[in-house]
Amino acid sequence: EETAKAAKQQFNVRPNAQAISAAERATLLEDPGFGRVFTDHMVVIKYSDDRGWYDAEVTARAPLSIDPACSVLHYAQEIFEGMKAYRTQDGGAVLFRPDANARRFRQSAERLAMPLIPEELFLEAVRQIVSIDRDWVPSGEGALYLRPFMFGSEVMLGVRPSSEYLFLVIASPAGNYFKGGKDAVTIWVSNDYTRAAPGGTGAAKCGGNYAAGLLPQAQAVANGCDQVVFLDAVERRWVDELGGMNLFFVFDDGSINTPPLGTILPGITRDSLLTIARDRGIKVSESPYAIDQWRADAESGRLRETFACGTAAVITPVGEVRSVDGNFKIGDGGAGPVAKELRKTLTDIQRGNAPDPHGWVQKA
Ligand code: PMP
Repeated sequence: EETAKAAKQQFNVRPNAQAISAAERATLLEDPGFGRVFTDHMVVIKYSDDRGWYDAEVTARAPLSIDPACSVLHYAQEIFEGMKAYRTQDGGAVLFRPDANARRFRQSAERLAMPLIPEELFLEAVRQIVSIDRDWVPSGEGALYLRPFMFGSEVMLGVRPSSEYLFLVIASPAGNYFKGGKDAVTIWVSNDYTRAAPGGTGAAKCGGNYAAGLLPQAQAVANGCDQVVFLDAVERRWVDELGGMNLFFVFDDGSINTPPLGTILPGITRDSLLTIARDRGIKVSESPYAIDQWRADAESGRLRETFACGTAAVITPVGEVRSVDGNFKIGDGGAGPVAKELRKTLTDIQRGNAPDPHGWVQKA
């Protein structure tokens, strides 16, 4: 309570005098796509080794002025989060497990040798932008995607942690993540590249991981696929995750499996689905799953469904897997019943349309 109050008091709020008109906003909200439309404001908090966190403000969204020697431009000390504010039936806005994003952000910071923002300050920053840009939270299927991020801002070329940082939150109304709102996606197995090695940064949400994933993602697209799936870096055998989502496998005995944590990103959707499935008495496991087994199980029919999950796309069924070793279909190539049911359960909780036994949903 005390720390929450202290965090709130730190913010200097300066509303945007040139905010987009209600009419123009309504037009933009009709079909916002993903990550292209932005709200009127941003949160900025500064950090220096000397002063700690200071000058927290909510201000008009505007370009930043960056020195060419700004450390992030050279050594990529940058981390981010992805979370959503949802519109509820009563017209309010809610956040889903924002504390989990705050904790993961701090874990990412630790791996990148960056300062750990207090959880309460992170949460207050998120609440501040949702509060001032509340009218940008879409109703219906969409949600307001929130992007907290932090980068090294010291002007220096030494290879050491920056002594100064900027923490920001921007917000972007989002519709469907995959163009066309597909029923199922096709994924490409990367044989040339891996995403994360043991001891590397795979479990951290740092920009560099995504930069390294762009070429394999482009290869996926060149092969007619929507997304790339990465195998482990040591044996090139175990299925890790997609470029931006975790994977689940559903078997004919009703059990579900997902790859274990370690080098993959610890997805909040992944964790939530494991909990929901356990609550329903579904047998769940977090075990390594080999690419050859995946193919064999899909061909034998032992594997009923595969789906990807993440904040942006919630649950997306995987209909087909393609690789240099040949392609295979999963089930009938469409959305399976388990993916559909888990998706409905999760989205109902997120929008306040179902009981929330774990206290995941918070008023924003
Ligand atoms: N894996 C990767 C590599 C991701 O970028 C994401 C998206 N944050 C996920 C998994 C899913 O995580 P979450 O459910 O927390 O969105």
